[in-house]
Amino acid sequence: MTRSRFVAAVRSALCVVLLATLYGYPAQAQYAVANKATPDAYDWNNRPPDPRFKADILVVVAHPDDEIMVAAYLAREIYDHHKRVAVVFQNPGDGGNNQVGPEQAAALGDIRQIEGHTAVASLGITNVWFLNGHDTASQNVLTSLEHCGHGGCLDQLVRIVRITRPSVILTWLPDFTTGENHADHQAAGVLATEAFDLAGDPTVFSEQVSPAIHPDVAMNMTEALRPWQPEKIYYVYNPTHDIFDGQGPQYSSHDVSPSRHESYGMLAAKEVSHHVTQGGGEVTKAIANGTAETNPEELTKLAMQPVKFIFGKSLVPSGVTDDVFAGVVPEGVPFQRAPGYTAVKYSEPTLLIGDPWAFYQKLWQAHGLEHLKKLVPLEISIHTNGVFYIPLIIQNPLDHAIDVNLSAQAPAQWKVRPLSPLSVPAHAQYYARVTADAPSTKLPGWQQFSVTAESGGKSLGTIPIRVELSNGWVAPQ
Ligand SMILES: [Zn+2]
Repeated sequence: MTRSRFVAAVRSALCVVLLATLYGYPAQAQYAVANKATPDAYDWNNRPPDPRFKADILVVVAHPDDEIMVAAYLAREIYDHHKRVAVVFQNPGDGGNNQVGPEQAAALGDIRQIEGHTAVASLGITNVWFLNGHDTASQNVLTSLEHCGHGGCLDQLVRIVRITRPSVILTWLPDFTTGENHADHQAAGVLATEAFDLAGDPTVFSEQVSPAIHPDVAMNMTEALRPWQPEKIYYVYNPTHDIFDGQGPQYSSHDVSPSRHESYGMLAAKEVSHHVTQGGGEVTKAIANGTAETNPEELTKLAMQPVKFIFGKSLVPSGVTDDVFAGVVPEGVPFQRAPGYTAVKYSEPTLLIGDPWAFYQKLWQAHGLEHLKKLVPLEISIHTNGVFYIPLIIQNPLDHAIDVNLSAQAPAQWKVRPLSPLSVPAHAQYYARVTADAPSTKLPGWQQFSVTAESGGKSLGTIPIRVELSNGWVAPQ
């Protein structure tokens, strides 16, 4: 190499080093990057989930104001145990009453959605979703599931479980009892129970858990969520008699928050006072005049009462009455398949209670909740002057039709409508019902009914069911 060529080569090398320095990486690295494949945005699917939406507790209730059932407990967990909470409402409460203005139906639903957001925001909860349900005036959970489009609502809720990745779900009891017994409350409990068992299964709503094809651009049609298995589920309810003893943990609302210096019940009362269309104004007055602890008005009473849970199930070691977070592991647990439904084989003609009670018996079996069978006997609230239907199923596994006679025992003041003999075809599941007209005045205590079926002198069984007569608000059966 001549001296001039040597100088040119040195100048050239210095130039490369200078340019490389200007662009922020050394010459060797420049060579390496130039030969590396372009990074694939598909890798974005491997980013960790958005931490802003992680919840320790997911509350799944029906209407804005239902969260009052757990508000005192949420105040305890949020303020003093630093738990993250998200809330799902099954519907906007568009069939409720309005204690403020003329707005009704969908307009009321719009207003109650804002009340719901504002109320839970008073406890610091901002992750709130509404499913596509609508208020349903019924005690029959199946009507509410129909009204919300069961599959659509479940799709929505499974997605929210996968976004929020909760350790614990708190929801309404999936059961039929006396009291308010709102179909939507029960439907929220059914949906939450189903979502608990399905969100960890990648074959359920699989489009939610498939990676996005082009995550760096818009209009992806798969969601890139991951399956998630919650660890525990607990239920709340407001029946007319106490069904909670020994069924789960209970938390006093009189306990004073060490960080907020007021009772959890008072924090709950302040939360529910935002539901002004639902009587929140009365709660505000009771707080202002110092009578919240003793106020008989419904919302204030619910805020101040102890929060009583019914144990649903736990996939981590936990006793029935242990603390809600006993056994919870922050990293989550593997998917655990629920037992599923198994059809009962009948060898003899048999009388059974019909829906919605029959539905619950199958639901509990399918989701490993058979302990709920023993929680309450068959019972219902019926309004004075109302009509009571006892739905029945007659299973006939025989190869021939059978003639069946139904008879009903009822309290004297009730009028049981005449029952006709039935012909039940071979291998049939036959539907029938007994109808009774309620007395016009409230009678104290349980009204005991029983229905018996017989065929050819042989009993097919007896169904006992009890009724609480009410002259308050009762949804149609
Ligand atoms: Zn409600």
